[in-house]
Amino acid sequence: MNVFSHPDFDEHEKVLFGHDAESGLSAIIAVHNTNLGPALGGCRMWPYENDDEALRDVLRLSRGMTYKSALANLPLGGGKAVIIGNPREHKTPELLRAMGRLIESACGHYITAEDSGTSVPDLKIMAEETSFVAGIHEKHCLDGQTRSGDPSPSTAYGVFVGLKAAVQHRLGRTDLTGLKVAIQGVGNVGFRLAKHLKDAGAELWVTDIYDDMVQRCVNELGAAAVTAEEIFGLDVDVFAPCALGSVLNDDTIAQLKATVVAGAANNQLENDDRHGEQLRQRGILYAPDYAINSGGIIDVCYERLGNDDPDALNRHIETIHDTLMEIFTRSEQEQQPTHVVADAVAKERFTNPEKIHQAA
Ligand code: NAD
Repeated sequence: MNVFSHPDFDEHEKVLFGHDAESGLSAIIAVHNTNLGPALGGCRMWPYENDDEALRDVLRLSRGMTYKSALANLPLGGGKAVIIGNPREHKTPELLRAMGRLIESACGHYITAEDSGTSVPDLKIMAEETSFVAGIHEKHCLDGQTRSGDPSPSTAYGVFVGLKAAVQHRLGRTDLTGLKVAIQGVGNVGFRLAKHLKDAGAELWVTDIYDDMVQRCVNELGAAAVTAEEIFGLDVDVFAPCALGSVLNDDTIAQLKATVVAGAANNQLENDDRHGEQLRQRGILYAPDYAINSGGIIDVCYERLGNDDPDALNRHIETIHDTLMEIFTRSEQEQQPTHVVADAVAKERFTNPEKIHQAA
């Protein structure tokens, strides 16, 4: 296994390998860049086939967090952790406590949060061993109620804000009444996005691998159910991928009739260079994933900073609109795919920390 010469190494500041024989923990923490602040990123638990696969995933994800936080104007760097194992079989309180101790050993350079395979209760167990955990505290909502530390509602709101920006830019409309939107994946984020869209008057088509998730949208939101294959080729305005990565590829881009792609999933482009350009050539406006799905990291950053003002949080999430508008405009001026422009804007911010507007 190569680390320093790994194709995804990209000048990581720290890569920490941790093992605990008693609990069976094998984990990697990667800290990509801390120019703007401590590295915050989720802890993923996944049954990786081998150590190389885990290393590749953690390096790519942690680098992505540097770009996401910089673009969201947060005083945070980029980092991520992976636990090698099946969350349904290998997750035990002992293993989670061992992970907490590993995080503690990074002395605050890395702060963890939820990701695939870990949940608020899991993070609360890690927090017994370390204070470098976010996404666990109850927060106030605008209506005076409280909600759990799960940042998904903020991610969904940010995607809604970003989707509206993309529709305004590409279709020249601010009223979503009758806007046709196809959503792939109606889990924590996708379902909440569907609700925002329904409230704004949009018409919805949804798919999910679980029927009960689809039925919830049909019954509660009047959405139309379609199959996993049909979702790409629908005659709609917007395609919103909210399930899995690599969903924009040679096969799916060719089917798209939507002229806007705006959704929550991470790493949507199967091949950044080829598929970003393919979308641009086809006149499809792509809202770069890490720009539009940053509501969750904004949420956990506010929690970490001890700011429980839901108004301030929402205002920060709403800056996703301006960030995307800047990316869309520059993409047209420079004749570059939107993800290339997003990378450039983010890099300008984290390599010039003195210039960043630290809104939080
Ligand atoms: P989730 O697991 O709650 O929901 C994902 C849904 O997609 C599930 O219902 C699942 O059944 C469905 N799905 C999986 N494969 C599918 C397929 N091939 N076709 C159709 N549906 C499929 O996850 P989530 O928290 O809603 O996150 C959704 C996406 O957004 C993920 O890619 C995640 O990495 C990304 N994201 C989430 C957050 C957050 O705050 N939760 C933040 C940033 C990015």
